[in-house]
Amino acid sequence: MRITLLGTGTSQGVPVIGCKCDVCQSSDPRDNRLRTSIMVETEGKTIVVDTGPDFRQQMLSENVNQLDAVLFTHEHKDHMAGLDDIRAFNFIQRKEMTVYASDRVQKALKRDYFYAFEEKKYPGVPQIHLTDLHNEPFEVEGINIIPIEVMHYKMPVFGFRFGDFTYITDANYISRKEKEKIKGSKVMVINALRKTDHISHFTLDEAVDLVNELDVEEAYITHISHQMGLHKEVENELPQNIHLGYDGLKIEL
Ligand SMILES: [Zn+2]
Ligand SMILES: [Zn+2]
Repeated sequence: MRITLLGTGTSQGVPVIGCKCDVCQSSDPRDNRLRTSIMVETEGKTIVVDTGPDFRQQMLSENVNQLDAVLFTHEHKDHMAGLDDIRAFNFIQRKEMTVYASDRVQKALKRDYFYAFEEKKYPGVPQIHLTDLHNEPFEVEGINIIPIEVMHYKMPVFGFRFGDFTYITDANYISRKEKEKIKGSKVMVINALRKTDHISHFTLDEAVDLVNELDVEEAYITHISHQMGLHKEVENELPQNIHLGYDGLKIEL
């Protein structure tokens, strides 16, 4: 299985438009962060978790020419705004895109992309096959996936476990029951926005504590704000088994 971090930035991305801070002005490519998303490639299939506003650019930079399914964590714009660009895959693969989403996310998709769900569709609109996502294990093209329900302030968000790999984004609380699903993972990607408190995201310390608590061997931080600091400096402050993620990073397991 190969995981690619397609984007590791918070909702504004890094650099932030108009910002003159050291991180936004950095020449280190690891300080440039598109909006958070991952790609999972296994058993000849390709799945993307979330299609944020940078989805098109992410598909182009990773040369993706096959996409079998999209899973949504939640309906915030930084995770959903790029869905229209699955049209390219509709065209190449000559079929609808299978999209897994909770009831609440499906409602948002039908509102934001109303034209894709009309009875008489305008030619060329995205072809989306909505599939229900509940907090129960499911299978996508033979790949077993366990959803993990985490809290993003007051909003339930889905993380996902694929075999020995767990992906959690946009969380600031995980119940004891849901934590049990993560235990035993070899690698985890987990969100941390910055070092100081945030209402709906883990801080860096909270994410590090969680990795230690759950006994995960190796972890990568995602959904990073420009307020986190320079990649190079923050990376040096972290324990050996925990790293800041960066766009394009590949994890093989
Ligand atoms: Zn900045
Ligand atoms: Zn987000």
